[in-house]
Parts: sequence; C-alpha cells; structure tokens
Amino acid sequence: MQKNRIEVIQGDITKLKVDAIINAANSSLMGGGGVDGAIHRAAGPKLVEECKKIIREIGSCPAGEAVITSGCDLVAKYVIHTVGPVYRSGKNKEPELLANAYKNSLRIAVENNLKSIAFPNISTGIYGYPKEDAAGIAIATVKDFLKHNDLPEKVIFVCFDYENYNIYNDIFNRI
Ligand code: ADP
Repeated sequence: MQKNRIEVIQGDITKLKVDAIINAANSSLMGGGGVDGAIHRAAGPKLVEECKKIIREIGSCPAGEAVITSGCDLVAKYVIHTVGPVYRSGKNKEPELLANAYKNSLRIAVENNLKSIAFPNISTGIYGYPKEDAAGIAIATVKDFLKHNDLPEKVIFVCFDYENYNIYNDIFNRI
C-alpha cells in the first residue's frame, strides 16, 4: 500500500508539477550549488527573500530540520527546505540526521495539507553521503511515515544521476 504511493524517476526536480519539491539546502538557506542552486535559479529572486525572512526569525536551519516557503516562479506550489548532514565518518549521527531531514519534510507536508511532494537525493552530492546508504534511509523513512499518515498521497524520489536512479530502483524492487 505505501509502496503504491512512492515513485522513483530520473530527472530535474525543478520541473515537477507537485504541491512541494524538497530542497537539499544548507543551514543558511541562502542558496548554493547542486540542487539548491538549480531550485533558486528556477524559482527566481523572491525565493531567497523568503528564506532570508525565515533566517531572521530562526537564526539558522540545523541539519535534520526543515522549513517551508512558497514556490515563487516554480511550477511547484511550495519548496520545503531541509538540511541534510555533511557525511564525515558516519559516526556523527549522520543516519539519524538524514532520517530527520526526510521526516521533518514529511511532517511539514502534512501540516500544510500537501498531497504530492518530490525529494532529491539529499546529502548525496556535495555533502558526500554514500549513495547506497542514503537511499536505504530515504526509502525506509518515507515508507514508514506513509504507513502512519494518509498525507502526502504521493512521494516522488527524483534522481538526477543514473547511479542514484539505479540504486533507488534496486532497493525499491526489493521492498
Ligand atoms: P547535498 O549538499 O545535500 O549533497 P547536492 O545538491 O550537492 O546536495 O546533491 C544532492 C543531490 O541532488 C545529488 O544526488 C545531485 O545529483 C542532485 N541534484 C542536483 N541537481 C538536481 C536537480 N536539478 N534535480 C534533482 N536533483 C538534483
């Protein structure tokens, strides 16, 4: 049942027409490289203004936490910005922080009554999280959350690189 609500695709998350796309942001929410840069470019300058307002209120967004803004010029209505852990040795709570990034994004989706959301492969780019491990955590965390919640109805994992796409499909076919 939960599996029907999950989809794995290859593509560019900025193009998706969903209620919210998730951004793999950094703690400053000021944009950056990778998917973060792509989302800010596609959303336009209003996005960073919304992020600045949040940062004025909360100071910074620590790893594992998430916040929501509008989608600005994106086709998606909202952007949920979450911060994954930087991977060091794996012994600095990285698995827990990565799971929290997914859980808190899902929680915000529920709080905002969102039906469809899309995740990038958080932390697996510049932040260096081993892709297999990150995919296992992402899929297990989302599947468990959907077991206990009716929203979001649909969760899409958007893999930009084919390495992640193949890893996700392998794991997804086994569950
Ligand atoms: P992090 O700092 O969390 O590692 P990155 O943006 O460097 O964030 O990478 C996270 C993932 O996002 C990587 O798997 C990368 O291939 C992917 N990515 C980069 N651009 C896009 C995009 N336009 N759409 C979806 N995923 C993307």
